[in-house]
Amino acid sequence: MNLLEVNNLVKYFKVGGGLLKKPLINRAVDDVSFSIEEGETLGLVGESGCGKTTCGKTILKLYEPDAGHITFRGEDITLLKRQEMRKYRREMSIIYQDPFGSLDPRMTVGAIIAEPMEVHGMFSGKDKEEKVLEIMEKVGLTQEQMNRYPHEFSGGQRQRIGIARALAVDPDFIVADEPVSALDVSIQAQILNLMQDLQDEFGFTYLFVTHDLSVIKHICDRVAVMYVGKIVEMAPKKELFDNALHPYTEALMSAVPVPNPSLKRKEIVLKGDVPSTTHPPPGCRFHTRCMLAEEICSQQEPALENKGGDHLVACHFR
Ligand code: SF4
Repeated sequence: MNLLEVNNLVKYFKVGGGLLKKPLINRAVDDVSFSIEEGETLGLVGESGCGKTTCGKTILKLYEPDAGHITFRGEDITLLKRQEMRKYRREMSIIYQDPFGSLDPRMTVGAIIAEPMEVHGMFSGKDKEEKVLEIMEKVGLTQEQMNRYPHEFSGGQRQRIGIARALAVDPDFIVADEPVSALDVSIQAQILNLMQDLQDEFGFTYLFVTHDLSVIKHICDRVAVMYVGKIVEMAPKKELFDNALHPYTEALMSAVPVPNPSLKRKEIVLKGDVPSTTHPPPGCRFHTRCMLAEEICSQQEPALENKGGDHLVACHFR
């Protein structure tokens, strides 16, 4: 059963502009659709600036969508006002990329974890303290660390605090926004394993936003590949890693190190820079960098079509 459905989601931002100057339109999320089953982890992968973080935040209604629909547990939450969203705020949580920047340096760990509980009136007094300690233990923090401040912790421990804060409201759905990209490689696996263990225990559903396909390989069930505000390919993880169809996904895959050095993979180096979402190319947005591009690619946008086996791709020739 789908926990979340996103249909034709659009989020644009106005950039600049003034008295005599029209603002530019940043098409950060442009007609994006997908669903996530209960207990599933969907990875949303793409290069920096492709709109994946905006997509995650718009689903949580931290940004108001401009068009499309977000359905959570069968209820359309797209147009719900702040007050009406309160009950969903408990069910939908976020883990941020920067574990230091997202934690208030003046608050103790205990206060940081307790804050969302207080906002939602969930626990008070002794119950609240017990709940905070229980969550700290779940994420690998100790009771003694409750009265310490974020600057006293390492990057990995700070991300454990960020995860604990996300768990405080007892959520069902978590947007994890590049949760390990600021951490040393040696720590990344620990945090990913922790997130997986917590999912096994509590049955969370994750939308896992990342630029890193190695991270996707570690933790996701299905993958959506995003390029300049659009999803260009979506498939179960194994299918995507074994049989990527979109030329952009192929290029991303070719840069992932293979564990066996004798199985050398030829890296596909894309020409040019990623176009900005304020100036997306016409037709297929990838045509300015695609090694297979033909005339039609700059004129007609390819639809995201199911090629069988739950494998969707947006390309005129695949
Ligand atoms: Fe490349 Fe054309 Fe396919 Fe776009 S539609 S990915 S430009 S071949």
